[in-house]
Amino acid sequence: MQSQIQCPLCGGSLALNTELLLAGHSFTCANCGSCISLASGSHRTVQSAMTEFSRLKARTGEVGQAAQKAIGKG
Ligand SMILES: [Zn+2]
Repeated sequence: MQSQIQCPLCGGSLALNTELLLAGHSFTCANCGSCISLASGSHRTVQSAMTEFSRLKARTGEVGQAAQKAIGKG
């Protein structure tokens, strides 16, 4: 999943892939050139946040489908 985060050093926006981040890859900030990687111990937090996000996204899809059906009946 492609995510946009704020660089902890310069505050610039930083695009990274959360799967790769969780896998231990590091990313370079295009703004200040710092190397950004996940701190050891943060993996669990990020993982659960991503799971929660996926769940919410799935629910949003259901709502969208229901709304579309309701509109179709009009
Ligand atoms: Zn930066």
